[in-house]
Amino acid sequence: MITPDYYEKFCCIGSECQHNCCMGEWDIEVDDEARARFNKINGDFGERVRASVNDENVFIRKNGKCPLLSSDGLCEMVLNGHKLCIICDEYPRFTEFYGDYTERGISLSCEAASKIILDNDNKVTLTGETGECCEDIFNLLYGSRNDIFQILQDRAMSVSSRIRLVLDYGEKLQEQINNNDYSAFEYVPVDRLSNGKDNTSVFEFLSELDYLSDDWCDILRNHREYVINNEIQVEQLAVYFVYRYFLKAVFDCDALSKLKLMAISIIAIASLKGDIYENSRRYSVEVEHNEDNVEMIYDEFLFNEDFSTENIINMIK
Ligand code: SF4
Repeated sequence: MITPDYYEKFCCIGSECQHNCCMGEWDIEVDDEARARFNKINGDFGERVRASVNDENVFIRKNGKCPLLSSDGLCEMVLNGHKLCIICDEYPRFTEFYGDYTERGISLSCEAASKIILDNDNKVTLTGETGECCEDIFNLLYGSRNDIFQILQDRAMSVSSRIRLVLDYGEKLQEQINNNDYSAFEYVPVDRLSNGKDNTSVFEFLSELDYLSDDWCDILRNHREYVINNEIQVEQLAVYFVYRYFLKAVFDCDALSKLKLMAISIIAIASLKGDIYENSRRYSVEVEHNEDNVEMIYDEFLFNEDFSTENIINMIK
């Protein structure tokens, strides 16, 4: 299994967490195996566990919280020595399978994970061993992602220049993929400068997506201009989004959209008022954790001229 080098640093901060995932708006679905285990828990606690899950196998929130969250913010399943359902056990870790090739990471939506990602001053590397993916396009994407990481981590350039270069890279790579040419991609760097286009189209579109909490729309409405205060933190975000999404082009051959997703995520996070930790976490919760949202974003990239490569490059000042 391949992971970013910071992966092992993750540790849930439990009762210290300001945005405990057991208090979020997410529906936590219990897998069948866990449900069968829940059915065998004896005594009053077993009764409570079963009463906490509805007929659709989703935990029933009480006062906005998981009913099995103790008053001091700890999980009563863990306190009572029981195995969790898959979602609770895995979060905030995510796993992607490409045939026998497997990658794992930690999600920006978790307060502790986002701090690990954003506080890392080092250039992220990937570690571990895994099997192989036999899809024809995989080797091209894998090699291209290494090139993209190199560009994003080239600190001799401003991070905005690096992101623009990656978008140019993606546009040219996509032309090659569209010609069914999966040979190694040779990139000649061209930094297409930004003309300072404003970020209005990004925020208008984001406010049309599904969201979990009502205040998210107000937060989007109150955005400011795109400003980068900390180059390394933006680099870490860009690497995170490329790591998490780029290889998924194995399934739809749309590599450029994965890079545009990285770029508009950076534009959004860097244009929200407040601190980058909370903005990153919140963006991840509201936008990327909803698969329908991510699909709608990809569709928009294909059909909305506002999100042409040129227009997104122009927003990266
Ligand atoms: S959001 Fe992260 S740190 Fe907070 S309770 Fe959940 S897993 Fe733990």
